[in-house]
Amino acid sequence: MDKAYDAAEFWSRDQIEATQAVRLKNVVTRVWNGSPFYRKRLEEAGVTPESIRSIADIERIPFTTKDDLRSQYPLNLVIVPHSKLVRMHCSSGTTGTPTAIAHTQNDLNVWADLMARCLHMVGVTRDDVFQNMSGYGLFTGGLGIHAGAERLGCMTIPAGAGNTKRQIKLVKDFKTTVAHILPSYALILGERLREMGEDPRKLPLRIAVVGAEPYTEGFRKRIEDLFDMKVYNSYGLSEMNGPSVGFECREQNGLHIWEDAYLAEIVDPATGRHVQPGEVGELVMTTLVREGMPILRYRTRDLTTFIPGECPCGRRHMRMGRIVGRADDMFICKGVNIYPQQIEDVIMQFKEVGKNYLITLEDDGLGDLLRVKVEIREECFVEDMRALQGLQQRIARRLKDEILVTPKVDLVQSNSLPVPEGKAVRFKDLRGEK
Ligand code: ADP
Ligand code: ZN
Repeated sequence: MDKAYDAAEFWSRDQIEATQAVRLKNVVTRVWNGSPFYRKRLEEAGVTPESIRSIADIERIPFTTKDDLRSQYPLNLVIVPHSKLVRMHCSSGTTGTPTAIAHTQNDLNVWADLMARCLHMVGVTRDDVFQNMSGYGLFTGGLGIHAGAERLGCMTIPAGAGNTKRQIKLVKDFKTTVAHILPSYALILGERLREMGEDPRKLPLRIAVVGAEPYTEGFRKRIEDLFDMKVYNSYGLSEMNGPSVGFECREQNGLHIWEDAYLAEIVDPATGRHVQPGEVGELVMTTLVREGMPILRYRTRDLTTFIPGECPCGRRHMRMGRIVGRADDMFICKGVNIYPQQIEDVIMQFKEVGKNYLITLEDDGLGDLLRVKVEIREECFVEDMRALQGLQQRIARRLKDEILVTPKVDLVQSNSLPVPEGKAVRFKDLRGEK
């Protein structure tokens, strides 16, 4: 068994659950006393702090939605004197107006420790050089990851996003061994290097922490092969601090959620009731230790499962599966519900497929037209027309099997699709645009 970063990492189920019960009662008490918004919500639901006796009582507490956070923007949910706040962050705004979260110094310390625990879990040590290739600024993947790597004692390089040439120079000059990177950018970086005649496998990188947006198992394998390094999935959202919420251990089979700090539930999005372990539902999260701006039962809109059974790594913090999609990402084509991840799953199985793709929904005058534009590797694009047509048909057929709608597949040249600054835009609804 690995050494622990701190005691809570290897707590037993009993320890975790006993602590959660105490902390849940505590957070409900604090918002009851400090937040008129939550006081009203709790009173309406007939919940008082005294009535919270065990973690099962969580189900009596009303949900908090993204719209609630927006309605309380910017600082209405803060329950400490504003002079105690030392930082604020925002969500990226992937699905609309961003939400803002403010932190006290203690909140930042706890967050950095949780993040350091994640990195330590996958074998990062103070001897590693850590390059953070994600955007800084309001986005939590910048300073949030940075603080964890520093806390662990890594020499931490705040490289920021983009600028492939500079990233590579830094990796080489400072012998970067661990990187934090968005999945979409990881493939772009690796393929660009190959196009420049370099071998990404020869770089000193041994581990990449990859998250902030959904990606499939096939996508992970591609990044691992391209760089000859281990890729660990990192999940977080600004409303729950940011990265550090869920992180894979070396088993690479599910993300442990640090339950001493976050209380996680998975509910049926329609009924709000808990689903069975193994069933897909919406992740709902409560901050158990945040001081400045606690949030109760936040509806993340992220769809996932709890993985039943104990992880061989010995940690008893619950594992969640890869995010299968955001409720907001789902689109309906010809009456069928489709997630972009289902499409990625299929196209990544074709070795001819390169590093980028884009799904669009158009109106061709007869109804919905689903178009999937796929970048093809440089070396495959020179093949003859017949081979390309064959590939196009095979991809379309496999997609039809998966999503039940026949898409139009366009094979396009490497580097012809737009490259995002931050999180990748995989889907565009062009219906109604002419
Ligand atoms: P936004 O919701 O505007 O993108 P955040 O920057 O707070 O703002 O990002 C949090 C969201 O990013 C999560 O709710 C989730 O949808 C997505 N996300 C983060 N990490 C992962 C991951 N490892 N896998 C899938 N989705 C992720
Ligand atoms: Zn584990």
